[in-house]
Amino acid sequence: MMFSGDGRRNILKRMQEKEHDLLIIGGGITGAGIALDAVARGMDTALVEMQDFAAGTSSRSTKLVHGGLRYLKNFEFKMVAEVGRERAVVYENAPHVTTPEWMLLPIYEGGSLGKLTTSIGLYIYDKLAGVKRSERRVILSAEETLRREPLLKREGLIGGGYYVEYRTDDARLTVEVLKRAAAEGALAVNYAKAEHLIYEDGKVAGAEVFDRLTGGRYQIRARRIVNAAGPWADTVREMDRSKNGKTLHLTKGVHLVFDQSRFPLRQAVYFDTPDGRMVFAIPRDGKTYIGTTDTDYDGDLENPACTDEDRDYLLNAANSVFPDLKLTAADVESTWAGLRPLIHEEGKSPSEISRKDEIFVSPTGLISIAGGKLTGYRKMAEQVVDLVARSLQEDSLAGKPFGPCRTKTMKLSGGDVGGSANFSQFVREKTEQGAALGLSPDAAERLARRYGSNVDQVYRIAAERGEEAERYGLAPEELAALEYAVSFEMAVKPDDFLIRRSGALLFDIGWACRRKDAVTRYMAERLGWTESQTAAFAAEMERHFERATLRHA
Ligand code: FAD
Repeated sequence: MMFSGDGRRNILKRMQEKEHDLLIIGGGITGAGIALDAVARGMDTALVEMQDFAAGTSSRSTKLVHGGLRYLKNFEFKMVAEVGRERAVVYENAPHVTTPEWMLLPIYEGGSLGKLTTSIGLYIYDKLAGVKRSERRVILSAEETLRREPLLKREGLIGGGYYVEYRTDDARLTVEVLKRAAAEGALAVNYAKAEHLIYEDGKVAGAEVFDRLTGGRYQIRARRIVNAAGPWADTVREMDRSKNGKTLHLTKGVHLVFDQSRFPLRQAVYFDTPDGRMVFAIPRDGKTYIGTTDTDYDGDLENPACTDEDRDYLLNAANSVFPDLKLTAADVESTWAGLRPLIHEEGKSPSEISRKDEIFVSPTGLISIAGGKLTGYRKMAEQVVDLVARSLQEDSLAGKPFGPCRTKTMKLSGGDVGGSANFSQFVREKTEQGAALGLSPDAAERLARRYGSNVDQVYRIAAERGEEAERYGLAPEELAALEYAVSFEMAVKPDDFLIRRSGALLFDIGWACRRKDAVTRYMAERLGWTESQTAAFAAEMERHFERATLRHA
């Protein structure tokens, strides 16, 4: 049980027992990817995350594993090629958290892209991103465009580009990477903050880590330290007194969620905003979400929130392209906001700053990685771990050389489904098995889609403990998902489950509201919380609801 909610303290103790090859600060997608790559090459690897895994930017993105079509506008060809190829790798290794989604790019008279430029742009995109034949772009007439999405404004519509993006669940992707890393032997723990760095002979040699749940302190030592702290990367560089030269430029991006009854979008759409940016509208699980904004940010890093201004900007953008809907603030069910940890470029506006990643090595040896995209996490990890392996070798600190990167063909946890092409068949078979255990076919299918090849464990919990579920006011599949999150995904607070393991606060806020007390009660009993802990975690969850529904001050 090396990745469970009740195993945290043991993990921290074990982390302290010896010097590791690598300590990673930050458990977003970047840190998770580095942990998996490093452990797969045979490095003794530890990772500390000060909040929940993915609670930073990696649960707050647009949730696309994408080829970065937008970057063609800025002529970032290398980036389009790299992230485009990477998405195919992510899909193959984790089809349970990655779904192809045809995207419609409506073309309007006087819009930022004409029919010819869209066609050429998408052609270049297909080539650069190595798009497979069945997913190459199609150019549609105005009638065909409207047939695919009747909500679109008709006036001035001259056609549409049709191409494929991949939808993901960013937080689950991060957790599946970490679960695989833990299965390979990495030690990873959440709510553990690196508060100070430890030095030996002027070189960074570890971190003093504070357990935010228990108040414990741990000295964790490693031969190399990687700072993968996303928006906090400069804070960690400040600890190291090496924040000079290039620095971060944080920009905020907001998303709004609507019920499909109010925003019945059939088809994902990527459209121009009145101020010349581009925004996604994506149908998902009975909801439609739109985003994102891109504005400079210097507020609270742990709790960025949507403001009335952000909301109105997106409502205005949506109403300009879907005018019959007449969306208002009252239609917004839920929201989320995330911070892009970009690398500052003098004189550029938020949308113009490149999303490319960079690695900085400080005089003390602290390796910091910043920038980048969720989609490119595996390649970013490869670069960092290549660097770590080389530098350990140069210092003759490692015995035999570490091997090459192995993650290109490594399935993520839950990804052993017989290949992406077999995923539908896999889901059908598992749904039948789940139904045979007494689950409704719908519930069995939802679980199979979410957990992939780990679904057998979830079904087993549902079958063994279904009766107990009633005591908490939960359905058997709900209790099973919750118990699995605690036992196998290190969920230790209600929001870990309701936001990042299930996505419910974002995409099913009604359900999350109805079940939040039951979830808290179950976790309190399961994890042995005191009354004051229970009240504190419940209050924290309440604040997340307030932020999501714009009831915060
Ligand atoms: P984070 O996820 O923020 O992880 C860093 C972690 O470090 C945090 O969890 C933090 O708690 C932890 N940490 C910080 N300090 C410490 C410390 N002292 N001790 C321990 N832990 C610490 N990319 C895509 O590919 N597709 C998209 O659709 C997409 N959409 C986006 C939309 C928005 C609005 C935004 C903001 C970004 C989007 N991105 C997208 C980019 C992508 O989300 C980010 O590049 C990625 O999530 C960054 O991951 P990270 O691990 O570097 O940072």
